Amino acid sequence: MSATRKLPTELDAVIVGAGFSGLYQLYKLRNLGMRVKVVEAGSDIGGTWYWNRYPGARCDVESMHYSYSFDPELEQEWEWTEKYPSQPEILSYIHHVADRHDLRKDVVLDTKVTAAHYDEDSALWTVRTESGDEVGARYCIMAVGCLSVPKKPEVPGLERFRGDWYHTCDWPESGVDFTGKRVAVIGTGSSGIQAIPIIAKQATELTVFQRTPNFSLPTFNGPIDQGMVADIKSRYREIREESRQSGFGVAIEPPTRSALEVDPDERHHNYEERWRRGNLTGVLQAYTDLLADEEANETAAEFVRGKIREIVDDPETAEKLCPKTYAFGTKRPCLDTGYYETFNSDHVQLVDLKETPLVEITGSGVRTSDREYEVDSLVLATGFDAMTGALLNIDVRGRGGQTLREKWQDGPALYLGLNPAGFPNLFTITGPGSPSVLSNMIVSIEQHVEWITDLVDHMRSSELRTVEATETAEKEWTDHVREVGDMTLYPKTDSWYMGANVPGKPRLLMAYLGGVGPYWQKCQEVAANDYEGFALSA
Ligand code: FAD
Ligand code: NAP
Repeated sequence: MSATRKLPTELDAVIVGAGFSGLYQLYKLRNLGMRVKVVEAGSDIGGTWYWNRYPGARCDVESMHYSYSFDPELEQEWEWTEKYPSQPEILSYIHHVADRHDLRKDVVLDTKVTAAHYDEDSALWTVRTESGDEVGARYCIMAVGCLSVPKKPEVPGLERFRGDWYHTCDWPESGVDFTGKRVAVIGTGSSGIQAIPIIAKQATELTVFQRTPNFSLPTFNGPIDQGMVADIKSRYREIREESRQSGFGVAIEPPTRSALEVDPDERHHNYEERWRRGNLTGVLQAYTDLLADEEANETAAEFVRGKIREIVDDPETAEKLCPKTYAFGTKRPCLDTGYYETFNSDHVQLVDLKETPLVEITGSGVRTSDREYEVDSLVLATGFDAMTGALLNIDVRGRGGQTLREKWQDGPALYLGLNPAGFPNLFTITGPGSPSVLSNMIVSIEQHVEWITDLVDHMRSSELRTVEATETAEKEWTDHVREVGDMTLYPKTDSWYMGANVPGKPRLLMAYLGGVGPYWQKCQEVAANDYEGFALSA
């Protein structure tokens, strides 16, 4: 046993990760009277909202909806200050929840899980940490996050760079002041698009290296509307239920018409009105076929391009910022505050890496095929090894010593996105094959945690020892996820949803597009039918 052992040797359940998922799972399993610990690599709780402290980091689901629903008193008491909550505000919310429910005492920080091995005789998982501690547990719950493993750019030379460099998702706690600095940002996904306007305000020169332009819409963020807060708080239960039954985890009026059956002027007015709402679902959910039909999608895409051309003064820069190679919405669209406007400042320049590809990071900056850009600081906003990265970083071994990495060499396979066949009593929260990143994540997290908790409770009360997906159920579900995805435009786009941002990663749509509501209904039916598709044994 290690001298500084932080974990007991035996537990009922080990949860890996102390973000929204792991903390809620801890709360629920502890309420069943189980011995549970959360193991977290970071030095504090919060997950995404602990790590992503870059300037401008903020949620783009409105605060009243990006919050736990399980504690009605909490949702009445807690006061959000802005329409879209900032990273510090979400982090203080998570801390408040942890304090309120005394969760910290069961969280082991600064401890990375390196392995989880299943023993068929004892039907126990042995979870191993980087410091060599081992703990045995009946259940192993992976709450490791879908966007928690940073991806660096695949260009040589970072180790030679003499200035300071930062990844958006591993930002110094003390913050970074770019005043007086020449700064380069590589990457124009949601993180880059949020950080760039703020970095531009500090830096003397800012060079943005863009490989693929993104569609971004304005947040029109500001102090939260107290009338709206009072209204939502007066009927929170009903709204939460509507969110759970919705397509993307936020209750909205679903579209009823095709974009192509509407007169172009009317369509433009509709897009204009929805643009002003300052949210993701407005324009994207204006018509039924925007995510399924290229011609319909093009009407929305061209509307957004029109906005970019209106905002950006220099026509050449505006064209570079206009996405033209993929359908609107099939790469995660962004919400921003002053992103396109930033390119109207003389000290900001855009480098199109499709014209002049990135060659290397040098001692003093960034070299493209065209020239070297000398900078003092480098910001990598290059994204994540999404959805499978954190799971495959752990040496997970199931029945017969099979590794998850072997099982998933052609892409992730799980039943309902919850459990891979051959890995009894192991669950993933918002795993591949569930709505996950294609939803308001808090809604999907709560659904998974509650479903897993009910199953564990059922196992205990029925004196059952193992539960695992059957190969057949897993295959049928995985095929279904693929078929539903293929009915949309998503698979045509190289995005992180498809694993296409990580060289060598299998290319397939990892999230389930059947909708949060229908998915939840399916999970409930499975449970009601004696956990159909799972093998349960004593
Ligand atoms: P995480 O918050 O990622 O937590 C996982 C934790 O597991 C991490 O703390 C990590 O350190 C830990 N961990 C991983 N591997 C190990 C290991 N081997 N050992 C120990 N610990 C480990 N979602 C939305 O719905 N709306 C948004 O607007 C939105 N904005 C986002 C903005 C950013 C910048 C990012 C990165 C993500 C955003 N998301 C958003 C997605 C966000 O990740 C989820 O909403 C949610 O916070 C995920 O919670 P989680 O607990 O599942 O995972
Ligand atoms: P991302 O969307 O994957 O963006 C990464 C960016 O880096 C892309 O522009 C990508 O270009 C570029 N890039 C990656 N590797 C590169 C290379 N080798 N050379 C040049 N450019 C490279 O990552 P992210 O911005 O961190 O966002 C990830 C997800 O987190 C989001 O989609 C969202 O779900 C969530 N998020 C949400 C918010 C929010 O507003 N709520 C904020 C941040 C993050 P390509 O497109 O060409 O690959």
